[in-house]
Amino acid sequence: MSEQTIAAISSAVGEAGIGIVRMSGDQSLDIAKRIYRNYKKNTVDNFENKKMTYGYIYDQDEMIDEVLLAYMQGPKTYTREDMVEIYCHGGFIAVKKILNLLLKEGARIAERGEFTKRAFLNGRLDLSQAEAVIDLIDAKTDKAYEASLLQLKGSVASKVKDIKTKMLDLLARVEYSINFMEDFEDDLPIEPVYEKSDVIIEDLDALINSANKGRIIKEGIKTAIIGKPNVGKSSLLNALVQDNRAIVTDVAGTTRDTIEESIDLGGISINIIDTAGIRDTEDLVESIGVEKSRKIAEEADLIIAIFDVSKDFDQEDKEIMELIKNRKSIILLNKNDLSKLMDKNIIYDNFENNMIIETSILKEEGIKELENSIIDLFLDGDIKVSNTTLITNLRHRDLLVKARDNIATAIKSSKKGYPLDAIEIDLRNAYNQLSEITGETIEEDVLDKIFNDFCIGK
Ligand code: GDP
Repeated sequence: MSEQTIAAISSAVGEAGIGIVRMSGDQSLDIAKRIYRNYKKNTVDNFENKKMTYGYIYDQDEMIDEVLLAYMQGPKTYTREDMVEIYCHGGFIAVKKILNLLLKEGARIAERGEFTKRAFLNGRLDLSQAEAVIDLIDAKTDKAYEASLLQLKGSVASKVKDIKTKMLDLLARVEYSINFMEDFEDDLPIEPVYEKSDVIIEDLDALINSANKGRIIKEGIKTAIIGKPNVGKSSLLNALVQDNRAIVTDVAGTTRDTIEESIDLGGISINIIDTAGIRDTEDLVESIGVEKSRKIAEEADLIIAIFDVSKDFDQEDKEIMELIKNRKSIILLNKNDLSKLMDKNIIYDNFENNMIIETSILKEEGIKELENSIIDLFLDGDIKVSNTTLITNLRHRDLLVKARDNIATAIKSSKKGYPLDAIEIDLRNAYNQLSEITGETIEEDVLDKIFNDFCIGK
C-alpha cells in the first residue's frame, strides 16, 4: 500500500518575498493538476519533470496566488516519491491558503521531518545522513555547518561501514573457531581474533574521542565568566561581542530568565552563560559574586575567571581560585594598566602558566590571546573539521561506546576461557549497535524521536 501524500510549508513562516509549500506522495501530480493553471489561466494535462512553470493556483474559480511550480517525478527526488513544490508569495496568508487547499484536495499535513523520514525509509539517505540534515538546518556557525555537511555526504556512514566490515570478518573468524571445535573437538588458536578486535577497538576509540570536539563544534562552548564585582566581567563580555560576530537566535515565545549570549569565534560558538547577571552591574545584589559564580561555573565547559590586580588578593578571590581548580579554565589578571597591588604569584603558583593571561580589558590588551587560548584549550588549536570524521551526534557516540564495551567484554570473556558461543553474542550486539547508527536496524520509537527534532516541512 502506498503512503499517503503529505504536504507542508517548507519555508520559514514570516514576512518574506517567497514562501514554499511542498508535497510528496502518489497524489502529488493529480492534486497539482487540479489546482494549477498556466499563464493563460488554463488547466494543464501534465508537467515536465523537474521544470519550473509559471502560473496560478486556483481553488475552484478563486485565484489564490501567482506562483512558480515544480513537479519532480519519483524516484529521483528527495523522498524518492513524486513531489511538487509551489513557490508562492511569502508572509503568512498565501502559504497557508495554498497548504489548506492541498489538504482539501486530499493531502494530509506532514509530521515533523516526515519528508526526510521518507527519504530515509526509501533508502535515499541513511539515518546518520538524515540526522545531518537537522544539524545543517540548526547550524549556527560555519564549523557546525561544515561538520554536518560532511556527515550529510556520508562521512559517519562510511566510517561505520568500514568498521562493520571488519566486525563481519571478526565474527566469521569466531564462527569458524566454533565450527572447527565442534568438528574436530580441538582448539584453534584464538590470537587472530584478539588481533582483529584490537584494530576495531582502536577505530572505535578514535571516533569516540572525536565526539568531544564534535560536541563543541556542534553546540559551542558553554562559558562562564566569573569574578568578584567590578573586576571587568561585563567589559570582557562587551569586548568579545564587539570583536566577534554575535550569533542571534530567536527563540519565539519563550522568556528565559538566564540569557545566553553567543559569539562566533572563528566558526566556534562561545555561549556565555548568564549574560544578564554579568551585564547587570548597576545592582550590586545582582552582580556576580562568589555564590553566583559557583552556580554558573557548575554547568560550564569553560570558566574564564577574572582577578583585579589593582586590588589586594582577598578572601573572595581565594574562593574564586578554589572554584576553578581542576576545571577547564582561563585566568585573566585584569587591570594590568593600573598600579598593582595584588601579588600575582599567589595565582601563578597555583596554576600552570598557560592558563594565565595578563590583560587590560579597558585597553583591549590580551583579548586576542584569550581567544586563541580558548581554541587551543578545546580543539588543540585545530579547528579544521574536514580532515577527520567527527562524531557530533550524542546518539552516535552512545552507540559507539556500547559497541566498544561489548567487544571489550567479549575479549575479556574469551581470555577468561568462556565458551565462544557466548562471546559471539556480545560481538553480534556490537555489530547491531553499529547498524543502529546508520539505521539498518532501528526501533520505531527511536526513529520517531529522531524525526521529532526536525522542523515541519523538512
Ligand atoms: P564587572 O562588575 O566584573 O562586570 O566589572 P565591569 O566590567 O563593569 O568593570 C568595572 C569597572 O572596571 C568599569 O569601570 C570598567 O571600565 C573598569 N575596567 C574593566 N577592565 C579594566 C581594565 O583592564 N583596566 C582598568 N583600568 N579598568 C577596567
